[in-house]
Amino acid sequence: MKFLNILYKLSIALCLVFCLCGAWFFLISAKPAKASKPTPTVKGVAKTEKKRVVKKTKKEEPDQPVGYLRPQTVIIDSGHGGKDYGALSEGYGYEEKQLTLSTSHMVKNYLQKLGYKVVMTRNQDVFLSLDERAEIANKLPADLFISIHFNFSPNTSAEGIEVYYCTLATESSDNEKKRLKISKELAQEMLTRTVKHTGAHSRGVKTANFAVLRKTEMPAVLIECGFLSNHAERERIKDPRYLNFLAWGIARAVDFHLTSHF
Ligand SMILES: [Zn+2]
Repeated sequence: MKFLNILYKLSIALCLVFCLCGAWFFLISAKPAKASKPTPTVKGVAKTEKKRVVKKTKKEEPDQPVGYLRPQTVIIDSGHGGKDYGALSEGYGYEEKQLTLSTSHMVKNYLQKLGYKVVMTRNQDVFLSLDERAEIANKLPADLFISIHFNFSPNTSAEGIEVYYCTLATESSDNEKKRLKISKELAQEMLTRTVKHTGAHSRGVKTANFAVLRKTEMPAVLIECGFLSNHAERERIKDPRYLNFLAWGIARAVDFHLTSHF
């Protein structure tokens, strides 16, 4: 009996040892499992959400439209400026450089209201060479170049509006031919609209090898808005209301041309 009692106690002791060992192994094996399951950090959550957003965006991305994505840009070149007065008469109180700038600002305002981006070669009374004017335009993705001038003649009865585009060089590329074709159409449109809105005499569309028309790379026209040497026309030109009609005619021609060609 004594032997059985000892055996019984021994087996209980062994059971206890096994239980303790089992518990110890369980704890050892459970620790790495807990460690491999990281607590989500803010960074981790953001990363997960970002992945989901990217996936969602890709799935819902619409087909890109193919077409005109930038606003159409018009360059307005105010003739003369600074030391270059253009046609000048202190006696009659006019400076061509000032009249071209005033008219250019009016054209700019109208075009901006119509939704166009406008860049002026000069915003104030400064001198610019003809090359500089063309360079300003050529650096931009510009759609049209409009140079604004007023006329003068020893013949004081000469009057009216005329619009110029560049003559075609003999060795012209297809692009240049296209540019000049568009220039000619714009010149005609500008003459029609300005004459309509001012009631001025039409002197027609003409060709000339002016530097600003020759050196620009986009369709370009030069408008002579009337004769400062003609008494009656000069008095009309000196009236800002007349210049406004003139500017509206120029802006409408640009708008009509760009909406029908692009
Ligand atoms: Zn001029």
